[in-house]
Amino acid sequence: MNYSFRKKNKTVKFIIIHYTGMKNLRSAYAKLSKINSDVSCHYLISRSGIIFNLLCPNLKAWHAGKSQWKNITNLNDYSIGIELENRGHQFGYDDFTSTQYASLKKLTYFLKKNFQIDEQNVIYHSDISPNRKKDPGEKFDINKIGINRFKNFISYKKKISIEELLKIYGFSKFYIRRYQSDCIISVKRSLKYKKINNKINKKFIKDFYNLLFDK
Ligand SMILES: [Zn+2]
Repeated sequence: MNYSFRKKNKTVKFIIIHYTGMKNLRSAYAKLSKINSDVSCHYLISRSGIIFNLLCPNLKAWHAGKSQWKNITNLNDYSIGIELENRGHQFGYDDFTSTQYASLKKLTYFLKKNFQIDEQNVIYHSDISPNRKKDPGEKFDINKIGINRFKNFISYKKKISIEELLKIYGFSKFYIRRYQSDCIISVKRSLKYKKINNKINKKFIKDFYNLLFDK
Protein backbone atom coordinates (compact mmCIF):
# COMPACT_ATOMS: atom_id res chain seq x y z
CA MET A 1 0.00 0.00 0.00
CA ASN A 2 1.04 3.60 -0.39
CA TYR A 3 -1.90 5.42 1.19
CA SER A 4 -4.41 5.01 4.00
CA PHE A 5 -7.66 6.48 5.27
CA ARG A 6 -7.75 9.65 7.30
CA LYS A 7 -9.00 9.31 10.85
CA LYS A 8 -12.16 11.25 11.54
CA ASN A 9 -10.58 13.52 14.15
CA LYS A 10 -7.55 14.27 11.98
CA THR A 11 -8.49 16.80 9.34
CA VAL A 12 -6.39 18.58 6.74
CA LYS A 13 -4.69 21.71 8.08
CA PHE A 14 -1.46 21.84 6.11
CA ILE A 15 -0.03 21.80 2.61
CA ILE A 16 3.46 20.30 2.48
CA ILE A 17 5.66 21.26 -0.48
CA HIS A 18 8.25 18.80 -1.76
CA TYR A 19 10.48 18.23 -4.71
CA THR A 20 10.63 14.79 -6.31
CA GLY A 21 14.43 14.46 -6.14
CA MET A 22 14.44 11.98 -9.00
CA LYS A 23 16.14 11.99 -12.38
CA ASN A 24 13.01 12.56 -14.43
CA LEU A 25 9.25 12.98 -14.34
CA ARG A 26 8.53 9.48 -15.61
CA SER A 27 10.35 7.77 -12.74
CA ALA A 28 8.84 10.14 -10.17
CA TYR A 29 5.34 9.52 -11.51
CA ALA A 30 5.92 5.76 -11.54
CA LYS A 31 7.21 5.67 -7.98
CA LEU A 32 4.54 7.94 -6.52
CA SER A 33 1.68 6.08 -8.15
CA LYS A 34 2.88 2.53 -7.55
CA ILE A 35 0.75 0.82 -4.93
CA ASN A 36 3.63 -1.03 -3.26
CA SER A 37 6.14 1.84 -3.27
CA ASP A 38 5.41 2.97 0.32
CA VAL A 39 5.36 6.59 -0.83
CA SER A 40 2.69 8.73 -2.40
CA CYS A 41 1.50 12.28 -2.69
CA HIS A 42 -1.72 13.96 -3.69
CA TYR A 43 -0.37 16.13 -6.48
CA LEU A 44 2.66 16.16 -8.73
CA ILE A 45 3.49 19.24 -10.80
CA SER A 46 5.77 18.78 -13.80
CA ARG A 47 8.31 21.35 -14.94
CA SER A 48 5.96 22.15 -17.80
CA GLY A 49 3.22 22.99 -15.30
CA ILE A 50 0.99 19.93 -15.68
CA ILE A 51 -0.78 19.03 -12.44
CA PHE A 52 -1.19 15.30 -11.89
CA ASN A 53 -3.73 14.42 -9.21
CA LEU A 54 -2.40 11.09 -7.95
CA LEU A 55 -4.54 10.65 -4.86
CA CYS A 56 -7.78 12.15 -3.57
CA PRO A 57 -6.93 14.66 -0.83
CA ASN A 58 -9.55 13.04 1.39
CA LEU A 59 -7.22 10.06 1.62
CA LYS A 60 -3.96 10.11 3.55
CA ALA A 61 -0.88 10.10 1.33
CA TRP A 62 2.50 8.95 2.59
CA HIS A 63 4.79 11.85 1.75
CA ALA A 64 6.01 13.39 4.99
CA GLY A 65 7.46 10.39 6.85
CA LYS A 66 8.70 10.96 10.37
CA SER A 67 7.81 14.58 10.97
CA GLN A 68 6.87 17.22 13.53
CA TRP A 69 5.69 20.80 13.33
CA LYS A 70 4.98 22.95 16.39
CA ASN A 71 3.31 20.41 18.68
CA ILE A 72 1.98 18.14 15.93
CA THR A 73 3.53 14.77 15.08
CA ASN A 74 3.13 12.77 11.85
CA LEU A 75 2.09 15.45 9.44
CA ASN A 76 0.70 12.95 6.91
CA ASP A 77 -2.38 12.79 9.11
CA TYR A 78 -3.10 16.48 8.66
CA SER A 79 -1.73 17.42 5.28
CA ILE A 80 -1.92 17.45 1.52
CA GLY A 81 1.38 16.67 -0.19
CA ILE A 82 2.46 18.42 -3.37
CA GLU A 83 5.56 17.23 -5.22
CA LEU A 84 7.33 19.53 -7.67
CA GLU A 85 9.33 17.87 -10.40
CA ASN A 86 12.98 18.70 -9.69
CA ARG A 87 16.05 16.47 -9.72
CA GLY A 88 16.94 17.86 -6.32
CA HIS A 89 20.27 18.31 -4.56
CA GLN A 90 21.32 14.77 -5.39
CA PHE A 91 20.89 14.77 -9.16
CA GLY A 92 21.27 18.42 -10.21
CA TYR A 93 19.12 20.93 -8.40
CA ASP A 94 17.09 22.85 -11.01
CA ASP A 95 15.44 26.24 -10.81
CA PHE A 96 11.70 25.80 -10.52
CA THR A 97 9.99 26.95 -13.72
CA SER A 98 7.54 29.83 -14.04
CA THR A 99 4.84 27.46 -15.34
CA GLN A 100 5.44 25.24 -12.33
CA TYR A 101 4.95 28.23 -10.01
CA ALA A 102 1.82 29.29 -11.90
CA SER A 103 0.26 25.82 -11.53
CA LEU A 104 1.29 25.57 -7.88
CA LYS A 105 -0.24 28.95 -7.20
CA LYS A 106 -3.58 27.89 -8.70
CA LEU A 107 -3.56 24.56 -6.89
CA THR A 108 -2.62 26.11 -3.54
CA TYR A 109 -5.37 28.68 -3.89
CA PHE A 110 -7.90 25.96 -4.69
CA LEU A 111 -6.84 23.75 -1.76
CA LYS A 112 -6.63 26.62 0.73
CA LYS A 113 -10.16 27.62 -0.13
CA ASN A 114 -11.65 24.12 -0.13
CA PHE A 115 -9.94 22.85 2.99
CA GLN A 116 -9.75 26.21 4.78
CA ILE A 117 -6.01 26.04 5.16
CA ASP A 118 -4.22 29.00 6.74
CA GLU A 119 -1.55 30.74 4.73
CA GLN A 120 0.97 30.07 7.50
CA ASN A 121 0.28 26.34 7.14
CA VAL A 122 1.75 26.10 3.65
CA ILE A 123 5.09 24.63 4.71
CA TYR A 124 8.10 22.69 3.51
CA HIS A 125 9.25 19.12 3.96
CA SER A 126 12.54 20.54 5.28
CA ASP A 127 10.57 22.33 8.03
CA ILE A 128 8.88 19.22 9.36
CA SER A 129 11.82 16.81 8.98
CA PRO A 130 14.87 19.11 9.19
CA ASN A 131 17.25 16.30 10.12
CA ARG A 132 16.38 14.27 7.01
CA LYS A 133 15.06 16.52 4.27
CA LYS A 134 16.19 19.42 2.08
CA ASP A 135 13.15 19.88 -0.11
CA PRO A 136 11.90 22.02 -1.74
CA GLY A 137 15.17 23.82 -0.93
CA GLU A 138 16.71 27.25 -1.28
CA LYS A 139 15.69 27.71 -4.91
CA PHE A 140 12.03 27.60 -4.00
CA ASP A 141 10.44 31.06 -3.72
CA ILE A 142 7.13 30.94 -1.88
CA ASN A 143 6.45 34.59 -2.74
CA LYS A 144 5.92 33.46 -6.32
CA ILE A 145 2.78 31.60 -5.31
CA GLY A 146 1.44 34.56 -3.36
CA ILE A 147 1.88 33.03 0.09
CA ASN A 148 3.18 34.98 3.05
CA ARG A 149 3.81 32.41 5.73
CA PHE A 150 4.72 34.77 8.54
CA LYS A 151 2.49 37.74 8.02
CA ASN A 152 0.60 37.14 11.26
CA PHE A 153 3.60 37.52 13.49
CA ILE A 154 3.33 41.16 14.35
CA SER A 155 5.29 41.86 17.47
CA TYR A 156 8.96 42.59 17.10
CA LYS A 157 10.66 41.68 20.32
CA LYS A 158 14.26 42.52 20.89
CA LYS A 159 16.89 40.01 21.91
CA ILE A 160 15.23 36.69 21.40
CA SER A 161 17.35 33.58 21.72
CA ILE A 162 17.96 31.45 18.65
CA GLU A 163 15.88 28.68 20.26
CA GLU A 164 12.97 31.09 20.64
CA LEU A 165 13.27 32.24 17.02
CA LEU A 166 13.26 28.63 15.84
CA LYS A 167 10.18 27.98 17.97
CA ILE A 168 8.36 31.00 16.52
CA TYR A 169 9.27 29.78 13.02
CA GLY A 170 7.44 26.55 13.87
CA PHE A 171 10.00 23.83 14.58
CA SER A 172 8.99 21.32 17.21
CA LYS A 173 10.73 21.38 20.59
CA PHE A 174 12.24 17.99 19.86
CA TYR A 175 13.96 19.15 16.65
CA ILE A 176 15.18 22.37 18.25
CA ARG A 177 16.75 20.45 21.12
CA ARG A 178 18.11 17.52 19.16
CA TYR A 179 18.81 18.93 15.68
CA GLN A 180 19.32 22.66 16.12
CA SER A 181 21.96 22.88 13.37
CA ASP A 182 19.61 21.17 10.92
CA CYS A 183 16.85 23.61 11.86
CA ILE A 184 19.16 26.54 11.12
CA ILE A 185 20.04 25.00 7.76
CA SER A 186 16.32 24.65 6.98
CA VAL A 187 15.73 28.32 7.81
CA LYS A 188 18.59 29.28 5.49
CA ARG A 189 16.89 27.33 2.70
CA SER A 190 13.68 29.19 3.52
CA LEU A 191 15.59 32.45 3.27
CA LYS A 192 16.87 31.31 -0.15
CA TYR A 193 20.53 31.61 0.86
CA LYS A 194 22.96 30.59 -1.84
CA LYS A 195 25.45 29.20 0.64
CA ILE A 196 23.86 26.78 3.07
CA ASN A 197 25.57 26.05 6.38
CA ASN A 198 24.71 26.02 10.07
CA LYS A 199 26.68 29.15 11.03
CA ILE A 200 24.86 31.80 13.03
CA ASN A 201 26.13 35.30 12.31
CA LYS A 202 24.65 38.79 12.59
CA LYS A 203 23.32 38.79 9.04
CA PHE A 204 21.50 35.52 9.58
CA ILE A 205 19.91 36.73 12.82
CA LYS A 206 18.81 39.92 11.08
CA ASP A 207 17.36 38.02 8.10
CA PHE A 208 15.64 35.60 10.45
CA TYR A 209 14.01 38.48 12.38
CA ASN A 210 12.89 40.09 9.15
CA LEU A 211 11.38 36.82 7.97
CA LEU A 212 9.34 36.35 11.15
CA PHE A 213 8.35 39.85 12.16
CA ASP A 214 6.87 42.90 10.56
CA LYS A 215 9.40 45.65 10.51
ZN1 LIG B 1 9.79 15.65 0.41
